[in-house]
Amino acid sequence: MQLTHVKELESKYILGTYARYDVLVERGSGAYLVDRSNKRYLDLLTGIGVNALGHNHPRVKQLLRKQIKRPLHVSNLFYHEYQGRLAEKLSNISGLDRAFFTNSGAESIEGCLKFARAYAGRVSTNGSGRKYRILALENSFHGRTLGALSATSQKKYRDPFEPLVPGFEFVEFNNVEDLQRKFTDDVCAVMIETIQGEGGIRLLSEEFYHAARRLTAERGALLIADEIQCGLGRTGRWFAFQEFVSPTDKDALPDIIACAKPLGLGIPLGAVLLKERVAAAIRAGEHGTTFGGGPLACRVSIEYFRIIEDDGLLGYIADTGAYFKSRLEELRSLPVVKDVRGRGLMLAVELNVPGKEIVKKLLAEGFVTNCTHDTVLRFLPPFVITRKQIDKFIRALQAVLAAEPIGPEAETAPN
Ligand SMILES: *Cc1c(COP(=O)(O)O)cnc(C)c1O
Repeated sequence: MQLTHVKELESKYILGTYARYDVLVERGSGAYLVDRSNKRYLDLLTGIGVNALGHNHPRVKQLLRKQIKRPLHVSNLFYHEYQGRLAEKLSNISGLDRAFFTNSGAESIEGCLKFARAYAGRVSTNGSGRKYRILALENSFHGRTLGALSATSQKKYRDPFEPLVPGFEFVEFNNVEDLQRKFTDDVCAVMIETIQGEGGIRLLSEEFYHAARRLTAERGALLIADEIQCGLGRTGRWFAFQEFVSPTDKDALPDIIACAKPLGLGIPLGAVLLKERVAAAIRAGEHGTTFGGGPLACRVSIEYFRIIEDDGLLGYIADTGAYFKSRLEELRSLPVVKDVRGRGLMLAVELNVPGKEIVKKLLAEGFVTNCTHDTVLRFLPPFVITRKQIDKFIRALQAVLAAEPIGPEAETAPN
């Protein structure tokens, strides 16, 4: 089937919610994607941070061959050997105690919200009134289900679906005073992304993190870290908040962490990690899922962590990410470049112009990137990307951006 036929079918039968790249993906290998016409693309987006070890990893392939002989699904009515082992691994790297497995980011966030409300209702009540309000941050993105959307500030995602779940309010990003002002007695949780992804690769400040941690602890509320995009190695640490907190400093850790994206390497898998104190407030039967934490997904996920450790990838991500960022910094001299941000292999160039056309031009040149927040070029390359591949991309990016005529003055100049 050719791209034109695929597009015809989709335009007739698929709900029109996606704007797709004009590429029919055929296969992938390492940092490269190949389309039906055999064109190769260096993949700096990796399925929005999911294919973190690159495409078609030999160890993952081998494991899939083995596991395919076993039941693909057993439901959460039975035991299988991989959930507990994966939960142990997640506990070891996070410092939190227990895991609940899900199928996606949004489903992980739903779990976080429900657990925070249940905890507030049972353990940390507020005298007469109920603690239920959740503070999230401006420009946050936590997913598309009604609960996750209620914690997502951006109007374009929310507007058509109002009224959303009550009890959410937004705090100005990195503004500790605004957090203090909005932190009333009925707040049960503060939710952060340590690095905002869809919001344009914005880094939470260490000061704000610790202020949120201190306030929630003092007032009997919980700190929820959405590490769906920035976590699980992407920044060169297992979790992005570990930039501010050592895993052994239990008091400074978040109370709940949401994971997903690369966790199952493309097999849908997410997780909510909880401190024992929070986990103890949730009773049997109060939450669940049919698919979450299946044997195939969990076994692949265990292999994900093994590969990262065996290949020393966390250190490699930190080094390669610093190199990539330094190369992006060189582009600051171009008039269209407004800012360069990020950590590890979660990087961005903010432009003075919309980024959509630039993404298309880069695609034509054989590079998969993406634009978020209208003007932010976002890069989530695979952890195995090499300096040589980065150099190749920088040359192309430099050429495309240098050809861009409009700077901020030109764009905003009257007549
Ligand atoms: C992608 C993402 C989500 C939602 O994940 P889905 O799997 O698309 O539901 C939530 N939070 C953050 C930070 C994300 O990047």
